[in-house]
Amino acid sequence: MPNPLRILIVEDSEDDLFLLVHELRKGGYEPDYVSVCTADAMRRALTERQWDVITSDYNMPGFSALAALKLQQESGLDLPFIVVSGKIGEDQAVAAMKAGAHDYVMKQNLSRLAPAIEREIREADERRRRREAEIALNRQFAQFKTIFDAMNAVVYVVDMKTYEVLYMNQYAAAVFGTDWRERPCFRLFQGDQDEPCQFCTNAQLVKDDQPQGAITTEHLNKRNGRWYQWTERAIEWTDGKLVRLQIAVDITDIKEMERLKDEMISAVSHEMRTPLTAMLGFTEFLLENDMEQDKVKGILQTIHKETERLNELIGNFLDMQRLKGQSGAGCVEMVSVADLLQQGVKLFTINKGMHRVTIDCAPNLPPVKGDSEKLHQVMINLLSNACKYSPPGSTVSVGASLSEDQIIITIKDEGIGIPAEMRDKVFEKFFRIDNSDRRMVGGTGLGLALVKDIIDAHGGRIWIESRTPKGSTFYIALPVFKAD
Ligand code: ADP
Repeated sequence: MPNPLRILIVEDSEDDLFLLVHELRKGGYEPDYVSVCTADAMRRALTERQWDVITSDYNMPGFSALAALKLQQESGLDLPFIVVSGKIGEDQAVAAMKAGAHDYVMKQNLSRLAPAIEREIREADERRRRREAEIALNRQFAQFKTIFDAMNAVVYVVDMKTYEVLYMNQYAAAVFGTDWRERPCFRLFQGDQDEPCQFCTNAQLVKDDQPQGAITTEHLNKRNGRWYQWTERAIEWTDGKLVRLQIAVDITDIKEMERLKDEMISAVSHEMRTPLTAMLGFTEFLLENDMEQDKVKGILQTIHKETERLNELIGNFLDMQRLKGQSGAGCVEMVSVADLLQQGVKLFTINKGMHRVTIDCAPNLPPVKGDSEKLHQVMINLLSNACKYSPPGSTVSVGASLSEDQIIITIKDEGIGIPAEMRDKVFEKFFRIDNSDRRMVGGTGLGLALVKDIIDAHGGRIWIESRTPKGSTFYIALPVFKAD
């Protein structure tokens, strides 16, 4: 059975065309052909139907093999192009091959044509298959790239011998810089370090040329000071080499939360133990000893004070946990600043009565946006501190005024003051300034931490001005309520 062959023959001689077709039939083909000898006719033939091969005479009046070759290349078709010529010199043959022709056959030696066509069709098929495979591979790579670029994790690939970074996703480039090509990983990720990291896992990832299981580690990155959990494994790269794939997730926030939790648990248990030990000791003492009423009363007062302290500690601690569970300020409403000050001050004039508490609130202040209960808690904590850390009979003054689109609330006392270097620290959990004056005053070190958490959640700011030993002023700035 002859092989069907769709052949476009560029030829101006009827006789040569006849011979060529005859030779193809002899060579086992059934040619389905069109012959052309002008550029226009060839252009039409290329667009009108599909071809397996093109042959072209070298020189024709008004057309040539080189012009035909150019037309074929412009059409974008990758077809075998064979020059078939009667009088082609070596230079011309070389020029045709350089221009992209696949072979040339002398008309005197036409028996070479059929095998040349067979070979060139096979090679063209091979080229097409390779091209398609490459396109599929590129498409696949683009898909993986899209997936990796969408990940909120550092993903990169490193040559295990040269340490050169071969691939990096967008997230990694955003964190460690877009200028990563051809740079060794230790320079890029560890801030211009000159040698591979001591904790490099290359040696564990491959044994006897075989990739081993994934390794997961946690490291603090020297360059940006953040914690990452790394998962690394050896994978085969596009060139068949084993390379190191690294995927790292930023766990700084989780680490920080763990640290805070541990710190909180140990601080809370430590702080709780102090009043509990006192309460246990004193109650045991009462149970084991008969004492006069006066002495019993004194001991009961101490127990009561420690119980209050424990109660305050648990209350503050729970408030803080509750606040952490909520996002933002919690219940958001219009809060009148004048009411806030009055309600706070009222508690201190009725219950404590040992300080003169004054209010100086500018008239017609606009409301602030927030949670009135939490803001009330802020006032109580600050007023309670103002009274706790200032002598009986002194004045505590509370004020509020408008400054642009913020309300500034002040709580001023005439107490022992707060040294400049402590003014940020007092807002940390469980921080208490340690001097004998203050240690005599009970407290948990949680009051101001809670105040700061609440003010932060309201989008506000809190700061202190103080002149030891001439009293402290706490300032709170809260945004004025604006209807959304
Ligand atoms: P505490 O329960 O110890 O009062 P806070 O968090 O409310 O805890 O305050 C932290 C520390 O800041 C206090 O221990 C105290 O030393 C200091 N402090 C707070 N308010 C004042 C103030 N008005 N005057 C002087 N020192 C204060």
